[in-house]
Amino acid sequence: MLNGEIVDNSIPPVIMHLDMDAFYASVEVLDNPDLAGKCLVVGGRSRRGVVAAASYEARRYGIHSAMPMFQAQKRCADLVVVPPRRKRYQAVSRQVMGLIREISPLVEQVSIDEAYVDISGCQRLHGPPSVLARDLKARIKAVTHLTCSIGIAPNKFLAKIASDMEKPDGITLIPAETVPDFIHSLPIEKVPGVGKRARGVLHEMGIRALGDIIQYPEATLHRRLGKFGRRLIQLARGIESAPVTPQTPVKSISGEETLEVDTRNKRKLQGYLMRHAEEVGHRLRQKNMKARTVTIKIKHSDFKQITRSRTLKEATDASEIIYREAGKLLARYRLTKPVRLIGMGVTSLIKKSAPVQLELFDSGENRSDPWSQVDHVLDAITDKFGKGSIRKAGLEDDAV
Ligand SMILES: [Mg+2]
Repeated sequence: MLNGEIVDNSIPPVIMHLDMDAFYASVEVLDNPDLAGKCLVVGGRSRRGVVAAASYEARRYGIHSAMPMFQAQKRCADLVVVPPRRKRYQAVSRQVMGLIREISPLVEQVSIDEAYVDISGCQRLHGPPSVLARDLKARIKAVTHLTCSIGIAPNKFLAKIASDMEKPDGITLIPAETVPDFIHSLPIEKVPGVGKRARGVLHEMGIRALGDIIQYPEATLHRRLGKFGRRLIQLARGIESAPVTPQTPVKSISGEETLEVDTRNKRKLQGYLMRHAEEVGHRLRQKNMKARTVTIKIKHSDFKQITRSRTLKEATDASEIIYREAGKLLARYRLTKPVRLIGMGVTSLIKKSAPVQLELFDSGENRSDPWSQVDHVLDAITDKFGKGSIRKAGLEDDAV
């Protein structure tokens, strides 16, 4: 300063990603110590149940979340299956998120057991990142008796990868000066969003590490992988512009899934939509909200993505109406290519207590009353026995 030098006052970004270790399974072990050390999964026991979480013991058998339950059972003869208790997990999650928010208000919760925290300006109050991470882990352990893993890096993308590196109960730092080397040798399948298909395409192109991406022109990557190709280039350059975005009040509720096998079968796709509509409706009713706009999203096998929306005359929280509207959108969409992912969501949300404009000439089409009783019963059962424990009869038997 005295010699006229320029002082850069901007604080370099320091982003933390925190992820609870085998969260649902760990909570179950905590509440029932007899389960400790067992090959344990949380999930539905039904024929179509899937693994929601697997203990580290189960993971040793290659069991992982989203795996169909019958496959998990094949892999481990002594598998213990515990039905999910979402309310309990949510209560623990609130404790964890509360402890994180004591460090910084810039917390973006991305799932029940995962959050990004911008700790760029926290050094003076909480010490260097490694100390801050150690202290936070200790506090979470003291309050919840559970462990988590923390990654710290200059951006969200790298922080997320870092938190996974020393799991469970680990802390991993990627200091800014080591980022270029880290990216250069990072195996491409470690990049979030690179699934089986993208990995296949990238391997075919000779890309094994994220650093290899830079040799390819953007147009090539875009042609092969769509928007995701562009994102990979940015990531390979160490650029991740997405800031940590603290939660705002709910603006949308949605669900989607990547299909096991790509399909053009609209009946199958309708089945998926029905299931998502049940879930979205359930979450709306849990939050005491209604929605006016229904959107479906389709990603094709070539990664091209489309959305179609419809706005209702009257807001609804009835799964049946949400499904019917989503179904109409799908019926009208001309499918020319196989579908790899289907999802649906609702927006234009209102709190139920807000006065609802009644339709002047009630056609009956959007009236939710006949369904509210059905939904009420289904919600009660779902809350008690977990997701997927009951569904309305319909097309979904064909869906899986
Ligand atoms: Mg986790």
